[in-house]
Amino acid sequence: MAISIFDLFKIGIGPSSSHTVGPMVAANTFLDGLKEQGNLGAVDSISVDLYGSLGATGKGHGSGKAVLLGLMGEKPDTVDVESVQGVMQEILDSKKINLAGTKTIDFDYDVDITFHRKKSLPFHANGMMITACDASEDILYDKIYYSVGGGFVVDDSERDEIKSPIKQNDIELPHPFSTGDELLALCKKEKLSISDVMLKNECVWNSEEEVRSKLLNIWNVMQECVNAGCKNTGILPGGLKVKRRAADLCHSLENELTHEQYNQGSMDWVNLFALAVNEENAAGGRVVTAPTNGAAGIIPALLHYYVHFCRAYKENGEDGIIRFLLTAAAIGIIIKENASISGAEVGCQGEIGSACAMAAAGLTEVLGGTPEQIENAAEIGIEHNLGLTCDPIGGLVQVPCIERNAMGSVKAINASRMALRGNGEHFVSFDKAVITMRETGRDMATKYKETSRGGLAIQVVEVPVNIVEC
Ligand code: SF4
Repeated sequence: MAISIFDLFKIGIGPSSSHTVGPMVAANTFLDGLKEQGNLGAVDSISVDLYGSLGATGKGHGSGKAVLLGLMGEKPDTVDVESVQGVMQEILDSKKINLAGTKTIDFDYDVDITFHRKKSLPFHANGMMITACDASEDILYDKIYYSVGGGFVVDDSERDEIKSPIKQNDIELPHPFSTGDELLALCKKEKLSISDVMLKNECVWNSEEEVRSKLLNIWNVMQECVNAGCKNTGILPGGLKVKRRAADLCHSLENELTHEQYNQGSMDWVNLFALAVNEENAAGGRVVTAPTNGAAGIIPALLHYYVHFCRAYKENGEDGIIRFLLTAAAIGIIIKENASISGAEVGCQGEIGSACAMAAAGLTEVLGGTPEQIENAAEIGIEHNLGLTCDPIGGLVQVPCIERNAMGSVKAINASRMALRGNGEHFVSFDKAVITMRETGRDMATKYKETSRGGLAIQVVEVPVNIVEC
């Protein structure tokens, strides 16, 4: 089984990888299926049913909007995020949608998309069904999809992948590993760093030059996202009236420019980087899933920390960025293979916990850590997020999600520092922490898994969600 680094780091759109990116990908796939059948021209109506977590929190996460964009042929990595609101308003006003530039059909958002708040489909919490009918209302094509986290989508015929939850493929990697122990053994045997192992594996799909260039592009998008988040002000969409705070924080930190103040304030800057990304995500902006949108701020925050506050960056330059991302991805792959990166499956420990472990590992590698120290940092990152529930207020990826990224970033830096001060020996292995996360997620009540029916989400009066904005 092979997962590419670019399966984990995908350029997409906010606010949620499983609820926005996944449904858009599913709608793209549905259109492809219709085209393959030769039935696109005969479509007269389309209906969409969202179930489980997609039904319960899909309005707040923009799932309906994402499906419509997908049906229009838009892709998460290329959709013009600035134009989305206008496009959505046009569909709502005209009650019509154009299917990938081929034909326009009637589409009433209030009638043709159903959010099933209390019904789920078997096999996964994020289920959806899309149905296309002809003018006689006969079904031309219908398909069930599951958005299994991080923008990964499988259809009903791929149930094995839903259980696993990895898309099966036959690709053979030069250095396969599926656990932390296997990865450490590989590094020892081959005398390679974790980033070396990942790079050699990734070259199955792309040349080394392409891998490096694509990773630097990921880094560019992360920087653009932080920059946008540091400039944009106002209230986040969706009805909670959450005020954006990154721009004000940025302004205040920029006024503390003595060297001493700057260094003492490094944690403030880390908070800023994470807040900026997750405010952009909440506003439906361009983000990199890392490994999900909800937790998209942690890895960029640590990369920015590395660039601005660590001497090693000055010595290693862009190579450090590349090695950071490769190492983080190795940890993310192990978590995805053995547990989950989806809040709907295992709660927020799978999102923030995974991103924290990945970022801690990436930072440890570029600060000169051994594979054992990196494994230790990843383990600390997971261990101290175990049990973290997913309870977004109003179904929006805002409270507690935005702040949670800042907290996860600070934890990741501390995990790395603790690991670097040790020799790699520690009590609980990374693999054991990952399995514990999986089992804790299994035991967690559904209300704590991205349904907004428990935790903080029910301590606040339910807020109506504005479908135009979210
Ligand atoms: S609480 Fe955590 S898992 Fe849930 S939506 Fe927010 S970031 Fe994602």
